[in-house]
Order: sequence, then C-alpha cells, then structure tokens
Amino acid sequence: MVWHSKKIDEIYSSLASGNQGLKSSRVKELQEQHGFNELKAAAKKTVLQIFLSQFINVMGIILILASIVSAFMGETVDSIVIMALVFFNAVLSTVQEVKAEQSLEALEKMSAPNAKVIRDGIQAVIPAKELVAGDIVILETGDYVPADMRLTEFASLKIQESALTGESLPVEKSDTVLAEDASLGDRVNMAYSSSLVTYGRGKGIVVEIGMNTEVGKIASMLQNTKDTETPMQKRLDALGKTLVKAALIICVVIFIIGELYGRPAVEMFMTAVSLAVAAIPEGLPAISTVVLALGVQRMVKRNAIVRTLPAVETLGSATVICSDKTGTLTQNKMTVVKYALPSFNGAKEISDFNETELLRAAVLCIDAKMLQDRPIGDPTEIALLEMGINHKMDKNETESEFPRVAELPFDSERKLMTTVHKNGNEFYVYTKGGLDEILSICSKDSIDTEKRQNILKINESMASGALRVLAFACKRMDSMPEDLKTLESELQFMGIVGMIDPPRQEAKDAVEKCHEAGIIPVMITGDHAITASAIARDLGILSENGRVLTGAELEKINDDELFKMVESISVYARVSPEHKVRIVDAWQKHGNVVAMTGDGVNDAPALKSADIGCAMGQVGTDVAKDASDLILVDDNFATIVSAVEEGRRIYDNILKTVSFLLACNVGEILVIFTATLLNWATPLLPIHILLINLVTDGLPALAMGVDPPESDIMKRKAKKSQEIFSKDLIHRTLYQGVMIGMLTIAAFLIGMRTSIIAAQTMAFSVLALSQIVHSFNFHSKTKSILKDPPFKNIYLFGAAIVSILIVTACITLPGLNSLMKLEPLSNYNLVTVILLSLLPLPIVEFMKFLGLNSVKDEK
Ligand code: ADP
Ligand code: MG
Repeated sequence: MVWHSKKIDEIYSSLASGNQGLKSSRVKELQEQHGFNELKAAAKKTVLQIFLSQFINVMGIILILASIVSAFMGETVDSIVIMALVFFNAVLSTVQEVKAEQSLEALEKMSAPNAKVIRDGIQAVIPAKELVAGDIVILETGDYVPADMRLTEFASLKIQESALTGESLPVEKSDTVLAEDASLGDRVNMAYSSSLVTYGRGKGIVVEIGMNTEVGKIASMLQNTKDTETPMQKRLDALGKTLVKAALIICVVIFIIGELYGRPAVEMFMTAVSLAVAAIPEGLPAISTVVLALGVQRMVKRNAIVRTLPAVETLGSATVICSDKTGTLTQNKMTVVKYALPSFNGAKEISDFNETELLRAAVLCIDAKMLQDRPIGDPTEIALLEMGINHKMDKNETESEFPRVAELPFDSERKLMTTVHKNGNEFYVYTKGGLDEILSICSKDSIDTEKRQNILKINESMASGALRVLAFACKRMDSMPEDLKTLESELQFMGIVGMIDPPRQEAKDAVEKCHEAGIIPVMITGDHAITASAIARDLGILSENGRVLTGAELEKINDDELFKMVESISVYARVSPEHKVRIVDAWQKHGNVVAMTGDGVNDAPALKSADIGCAMGQVGTDVAKDASDLILVDDNFATIVSAVEEGRRIYDNILKTVSFLLACNVGEILVIFTATLLNWATPLLPIHILLINLVTDGLPALAMGVDPPESDIMKRKAKKSQEIFSKDLIHRTLYQGVMIGMLTIAAFLIGMRTSIIAAQTMAFSVLALSQIVHSFNFHSKTKSILKDPPFKNIYLFGAAIVSILIVTACITLPGLNSLMKLEPLSNYNLVTVILLSLLPLPIVEFMKFLGLNSVKDEK
C-alpha cells in the first residue's frame, strides 16, 4: 500500500479507524488476524544446542579422550564413571545457563518500549507490541516511533530516520499528500518504526506493523549483537586458558619424572589426566554466570533494571555518581508557593493570587492536562495546571476560548516554551521559562532597569529558599509571523512564580552512604545556581568548600581547565545536556568510574560515554533508556546507590568462588605433584578429582554466590582499579591451597599404614570435606566467623550437607563405592579424617587473627 500518497480520510476509512481510535473489540480481532507488532528475532540457541556446547571445550575434550583411552585399556568402569560425571556436569551447566538466559530475557521484556495510543477515544500507554493497523498513536520528543504511521498532527515534529535512510539530520515532518514514487527519505507525512522523535509532538495512524514495516523488511540487517560477556568473565576465560597451558606443561614434567622412575605408561597417562582435571577450574564460568544472573534479579527487586551484564560489575566499582536534581534527588512533585509581578518589590504567598493574565498564561502555555481527574505531564507544568485549578482558571474552558494555533516546544537548551492562541482576530503569544532567558527576550520598555533589579532580587530570595523559578512573558499580534522563531522576541514581562520540589527523604541517606563508600555525588541541573545550591546543601552534596559551576562558566573554560578543577565542583547549575559529556570525560580522565543519570533525547551521548548510564524509568524517554546500562524504575538517586551496593556484593561473591575453587585446584596439584616427585602410589584417582571438582565443590561455590554482603560493604572506599588477580587474592588462594593440599597428603600418608585403597579413600575424603569446611571461611576476609551469625547463609549450609552426604555415600554405599574405587573407613581412620577436615576453620581463623588472611594491595 502506498500510504504516503493517500488522503488521511481515505486511510481512516480503509483501516476503519478515525480520530477517536479503534474500538477495543476490533483491536482484539485484528491482533488475532495479523499478530503482534514485533520483529521476529534471530533464532535462539535451543536447550539441546546449549547442552552440546558444554562438551566442546578443552576440559570436555580432555575428559572424553580420557574416557575413550580408559575404555581401550580395559578400564571400562573408569571410562563409564568419567563419562557419567562429564554428563552430569553438562546437565548442571545447561540448567544454569538456561536459567541465566531466562532471567536476562525477562529483563529485556521489562525495558521494552511503550506507545501512547488512543482507543475508544481514551488515551492510554500500552506495550508497543500490542499496536494494530488503524491505531491512533501520539508521538512526543524522545519516543521511538512504534510502527509505521501516516502522520495527522504536526507540532514542530522532527524525526531522525538515519537507520532507514542514512540521513543523519532529523527530518521536519509536515502535512502534504505525496506522489506515489516519493522515496523513503522524502515521505515527510510518514513516521517509520524505530526511527526517533527528536523534537516536537505529533499524532498519526498506524498503517503497518511488525515485519511489514520498513524496518521489518531489513530487520535481519539490524540484529544488534550486544557484548554480554563481562570484563571479569573475559578475564576468567583468559585464566582458564592459561591454566590449561600450565596443566599441559605440568603433565609433560610428570610424564618425564614417571619415565625416569620407570613407571608404566598407562598409570602415568591417568596421572597426567588427573592433573589436567585438577588444574582446570571447570566450575568457574558457569558459576560466575549464575552469580551475575541472580544478582541482576535481585537488583530488579531494588528497582534497578540492568541492561547489560558488564554493568553489574562496573556498578560495584563506581567512584562518582553524577545525578540530575529534578526527580532524582527531589520528589518531582512541584507546587507553586510564591509569585511576584514586575510592580511588586517582594515575593508574595500564592494564596492571595488573582492576576488573570498570568493565570491564563500558566494554564495555556503547558502541555500538562487533566485526564480522568488525574493530572498528566511534566511536574513543572502540573504545578501550573494545579495553580490554575486553585484559582478558578480551568485549562479546558480557557483553551476553548483561546485555542492553541502554534507552539515552540520546551527544550532544555533554550529553557523556554512558547504557545500562540487565537482569540477573535488577535493572536496571543505566551512564553514561559528560566528567568534570565525570559528577561533576555523581553522588550526594553516592558521592564526598566529598576524593575529588573527588583525582580532579580526577588528571584534570588526565592531560589535561596530552594524554590524553582519560572518566568512568564506575552505579546499580542494581528497576524502570525512567517518565521515562528520571531515569536520569542519583543515580549512583555508578566511575572515569576516559585515552586517547591522537596528533596527525597531517601536521597539524603543515600548521599551519606556515598560519602562513606568513597563515592563522590555530583548534582547536575538546568535549574538556577542558587536553587541548586540550596537543595545540594540540604542533601549534603555541597559541603563548605564545594563549588558550584554554571553552564555559562563551563562554556568559558576548556577541557584542560575543567580537568584541573572538576574534583572540587559538586554542583553544576543552568547546564545543558551537552555539558554532561564534558563533565563525564573530565572525571574519567582522573581514572574514575562514572555513573550519570539522564532522561531526555539530548542526554543520550552522556549516558553512552559514562561508565554506567542510568536512565529514568518513569520520565525517561525511549532514547535515553536505549542509551543506558541501568534503568531506575523509580527515578530515584537512592536506587543507584543500592545498585552499587548490590554490584559490590556480586563482585565480592564472584571473587569468593574464584578463590575457593582455585584453592582446591592448587591443593590437588600439590598432592599429585608431590606424590609423583617422591614416587608414591597415586593418592587421587581422576574420578575422585572429577567428583570433587564437579560436584562436592560446585554446590558450596554456588551457595557462596548468594552470600549476604559484609556489613561494612558500603564503608569500604571505592577502588579505581578492579583487578581480579590482586596480590591479596593470589596470596589467600595460594596459602589456602597449600593448606588443603597438606591436609590431604597427611591423610594419604596415615591411610597408607592400612592399605592403598584406605589411603586413597582418606585422601579423597579429606580433600572433599576440608574444602566444604573451608567454604565457611569466606564470609569475611578479615573478620572472625564468630563475629557473624553462623547461619548467615543457609544455602551454604544446605550445600554443605548435600555435599557431605554425597561423599559419605561414595565411601559407604556398596556398589557405588566399588565403582568409585573407595571403601568404608575404620573408626580410627574416620576420626582422623574428621579431625583433619575440620582444621581449615581454626587455621584460617588464626590467620585472620594475625591479620595475615588478607594483604594490602599496592593501589
Ligand atoms: P532540570 O530537569 O535539571 O530541573 P530542566 O532542563 O528541566 O532542568 O529545566 C531547566 C529550566 O528550564 C528550569 O529551571 C525552568 O526555568 C525551565 N523549565 C523547565 N521546565 C519547563 C517547561 N515545561 N516550560 C518552560 N520552561 C521550563
Ligand atoms: Mg527536567
């Protein structure tokens, strides 16, 4: 269908729609007939594919080879046990991966775009997916166009269509009927799905949905591949590869030593396999993914939707949070409390207000309106709407007398908004905006120097009382000018109003938390410097020696100068969104990890360049959300801080599991290496090592992933560099690995006095059990376990119990124990095993007591 060359009435009748929108019953029918308005995504990996991919890695291949070789050597039982363990591990990893994927998918759904639709004559916000052809949709600045539409209303509407046409400048839309062969880029009466509204407002009728839209036709080209691996996961992968290489070298060394001792090649092969198994931390990648996914779910409960996994990690290391004032640090519930006219010399309470012209301007020059007795729109404008209601100036009545014929929408660059209304043969122009901006477009004779000084003084007194000040001006004309831009000149000054926007209660506590955590909060606002400082001081963001910088001052200094002073500035006032990028850059050059909030179209560049872009969930535009890493469901500053806390905890917990699993591997290597070097019998068979690495260690490691945060997690200073393999972690992993290894060797030597099988059983039991006991040492690096409630993490208890039962079953259950080449222990040996296995607790406690469990990193 060539929609752009049809008249609007033709389109209305061909789609059986009209200005009032479709009937909901009709919508249902259409959805059933034509399906939903969505692009078919690229085929996802099936569960079977995920399962099979578990075998295609170094570890899987080594083990499958080992199993085949054992089978050829007649060790059928070994071969089967190895295969069973590999299989079990693959099932476990698949379950984890699928679950992680599901929770990420759920997140994606939460941040899916909405559309403002008119149905049955009523405006509502619905998921864009539910649109059908014939729906009437309203477009506002910052929206993504949700489907292909023929436009019916245009208020300075500009749309950026670069994804479709390659044209990077926004296209001004207008109402004409076009020739049939007009190219996509020339169709100014259409709006195409997934292009974005950069300016103005508009309305239109949906003509194509889903795969029939222009973007649907090229959908396969646009499948964006987002990087979902986090920096830490990448480093873990790299670590895995290094360990594989190290394992191969150790294997060769062991082989050579074995040859020198003249031991049989078969035995040496199995030993080498055990070692390879011991060296590779097979559980790590799966566990880190699960810990991240669980953390992401918990963040949702705290109103923070993470859009990319890497953001979880970056969050934990945030050192600066740059936040908008209005709505994030304040409640965004505004009420007009004071006003002043040019003739006054002081601010008056709003209660005795009755200036008709100013009231009329207040209700006419706004886009906010009452919808079923509820005000909707920008809070600043709702305050004006309500001021009108309280003073008997109804917006609808006034507007029917003074219908709007033109407008220049508000943008945070100009800080002005203008509307033109027709009354009789006259045109009334009303402009509202920041005081300085309004004064600069008023005619000289409308406000003399004295009145101007007077107004500025009143403004200052209002602003220092934390009031947001809005000024009004007007003029009358006999005809509309050619160029709408001339509307904002030669105006008559009308007066100012001051509105209060109380700070959020939680924001104060969150700022305090930031200070304790070594995170610097910075306020950024388009509001007046004095208003901003008053609120910043109240919230604790602006201290005695903190500085306030205005957008005008920022314009005057270059990036080097900003770099030098950025650390002393806590409040930026009267800034435009484009300034935000410079602020982010300056902080980043000092090595900081910067979080930045934003809501508008113009905020997108800053959100992208920040390490953590945080978009407002409620007032944020689609564009801002799309550019962000984190969506604040409640638009709240405190939510960023709790997300940081959650990020720190996730980071901590992944480090705990890394350190825990690696300590076990170090212990295993030590045992095998010592045994080979000293020409002992093999203390641990490959199947023993596999069982421990894949099962009895994996469960506690997983439980550690949900460890509650340390009580002082937000009292720790933020570190600028986050290195996984810090000196501290290596120190702890090595000494604890040696501890586990020595306990196992001791058990083996004691067991040798009974028999080789008894010795192997003891080595296996102590290795498995001491690790389980050791897992309780990780709640804190420095504090004794006695200082924490022992039942701090019940999952860890559960995991420990299950793991202990598995170890017990492998030793005592007839049949199973012969499969595992283990045997029940004598009482004496059993007591020895228990005592040795409990030792990690007192040893690590003692190290904590000496202050040796954790070493200071250089940085
Ligand atoms: P912020 O969101 O940081 O408070 P804005 O960019 O929304 O900053 O607003 C900056 C200034 O623009 C305000 O101080 C006010 O003077 C003016 N302003 C805000 N909203 C409107 C509006 N809807 N119409 C006209 N002027 C406005
Ligand atoms: Mg704002």
